Amino acid sequence: MEIKLDSVKGIGPSMLRILRNQGLWSTYDLVLNYPKRYEDFSITSLEKANDKETITTHATIISELKLNRFGKGGFVSFKARILDKTIDIVAFGKGYLIKSFAKDEEVIIKGVYHLFKRQINASAVIKVDKKVPLKPIYGIEGIHDKTMMNVMETIFLNNQVSIFETIPKEYLEKYKLLNRLEAYQKLHLPKTIEDIHQAERRFKYEEAFYLQLRLASKKTTNHPRPPKPYDIQKVKDLISTIPFELTGDQKEAVNDIFRDFKKDHASYRLIQGDVGSGKTMVALISIYAVITANEQVSLMAPTELLANQHYQYFKSLMKDANIALLTSKTKNKIQLKEDIKNGKIDLLIGTHALIENDVIFKNLGLVVIDEQHKFGVNTREELIIKSNAKDVIYLTATPIPRTLALIAFGDSHVSVIKEKPKHRILIETKYITKDRIQEMYDLMHSAIIRKEHIFLVVPAITSEHVTDNIETVYEEIKEEFSAPIFVLHGKLPYEEKELIMEQFIYTPGSILLSTTMIEVGIDIPTATFIGIYAAESFGLSQLHQLRGRVGRGNKPSFCYLLSTKEDIERLDLLSKVNDGFQLSEYDLISRGPGDFLGVQQSGYLKFNFLDLATDYQVLIEAQKNVQELLSKPDFKTNTAYKYLNKYMIESIKI
Ligand code: ADP
Ligand code: MG
Repeated sequence: MEIKLDSVKGIGPSMLRILRNQGLWSTYDLVLNYPKRYEDFSITSLEKANDKETITTHATIISELKLNRFGKGGFVSFKARILDKTIDIVAFGKGYLIKSFAKDEEVIIKGVYHLFKRQINASAVIKVDKKVPLKPIYGIEGIHDKTMMNVMETIFLNNQVSIFETIPKEYLEKYKLLNRLEAYQKLHLPKTIEDIHQAERRFKYEEAFYLQLRLASKKTTNHPRPPKPYDIQKVKDLISTIPFELTGDQKEAVNDIFRDFKKDHASYRLIQGDVGSGKTMVALISIYAVITANEQVSLMAPTELLANQHYQYFKSLMKDANIALLTSKTKNKIQLKEDIKNGKIDLLIGTHALIENDVIFKNLGLVVIDEQHKFGVNTREELIIKSNAKDVIYLTATPIPRTLALIAFGDSHVSVIKEKPKHRILIETKYITKDRIQEMYDLMHSAIIRKEHIFLVVPAITSEHVTDNIETVYEEIKEEFSAPIFVLHGKLPYEEKELIMEQFIYTPGSILLSTTMIEVGIDIPTATFIGIYAAESFGLSQLHQLRGRVGRGNKPSFCYLLSTKEDIERLDLLSKVNDGFQLSEYDLISRGPGDFLGVQQSGYLKFNFLDLATDYQVLIEAQKNVQELLSKPDFKTNTAYKYLNKYMIESIKI
């Protein structure tokens, strides 16, 4: 039942017009249009107030009110007694006060207190008996907030709005949440700050609940398949050939994956681990297990460099498996595709080329996506859809903040590798201006003497706009260093890139000058130094990724951030924080959630109340509740579910 606004007492024709212009047509619209903020009239103490602090205080007017002309406008002045002090009150642009108040009246004054002048510049003077400690601010041009407040009072008092509950009663009771009507009422007409908090609590939960419901309704489809018959003995044999002991977190992640394999339906899992935490090994063991179950695996990497490195690495450790590399540059693709189709290839490693239509597997059992955040949503989905296998492992070194991981994957599908391999030494990160570059050169010289590898990264190949680019930096360093300098950038042909990378790896004590193409994944344990030019032009997580190219062995490593600008917050932060998880929380706050999930329209991640950075617990609870709700046979008759169907279903992709 919709109640039109012209039937509400207190809304005249001109107000009606303004409201309609704002898209507010019914009382329900008005209720949904809650105050933007509140002016707080709860009393603060003058005794403890500092100079220029905003205070709200009881006062007695002890002089006549005077209107002073001043420039175009004017101000009202009077004296007031507050506690035992006499204070001058001035109120600019509030001529109407003259008519509203008189000597000896008790008032509440809000304003900025000037301690030494004994003066308050009042922003509000109100009657004591109003008992409105919190004044809602709607900020609708042409309508006084006071008028809006009266209208809202009328609407709620006369039950001129019908607000039905959308959350199952049991959860309202469980978490002691206000019902929807109460919550809106408290949002519009709060008596205390606590009222607002209570209302916000309810709406946070409501938003989390609906988000989870939407996500769940997308994900309830389980694809049945028999448990994977992997050969545990063979897997153990492989593990025994690994030249190091797995970290506890790596073991945990492997166990999580193997548990998924044993289920009777396909599953997906996100492995989150900071740069250098050893995700590749987790993938390798899982991939091998699937191969022992006589199923094929595809592993997709975002760059050819990385795909190639994986190819070499997997070949060296899985000697009894048939491994192939497919990139856009692969020769004799026809034969390779034939082999894939016939099941001769156990593991296919590659880039986007893997999702070409004519790549057909005989028996694909697992898809692994390395550095998944580097792929667009569509690429990821396409690969999964065509795989038909549906078992998917995502690896990412840009840890998604916990809340987002939960939203995108669900809590039970995320494994976190926090622990770094033993003997890792923290990468020492320094942020310097370019005039101190000699300090960096000195360290580079020592690294070269120790036969270690050095990366120098610039934001561009050549450009009038970027002073630090491949060309200029090459000129600068070729005088300084006699060590071999290799140059790598995206414009080079593929074969050449590979060759340069290979030469660099096999030339200890050399420098690789490159654009950000080395950003993801590349692993050179003897790389101990990275210098990033014009560091201010990179994002926080990109810098962290770049830094992750060093410190992957057990040698002390350095990351130098060069900038012409001083005091760049994220560069400072990076030099203090080594933990990618912590950095990603910061990134979430500064960039918003859309970036993380690679979701173009992140509109559905915009909330009015829920805060993705802090409300993890709310999301977890809501997720549990939604699962419980959906497991009930009659869930489709539930009001909450009906409501979802009616109002909320929209296409989302993660
Ligand atoms: P990322 O998580 O960034 O993909 P990698 O898997 O490339 O990291 O591993 C980084 C380096 O650490 C590699 O050289 C790898 O061989 C090594 N490594 C991985 N796990 C361990 C471990 N448990 N102990 C010692 N070194 C390890
Ligand atoms: Mg990696």
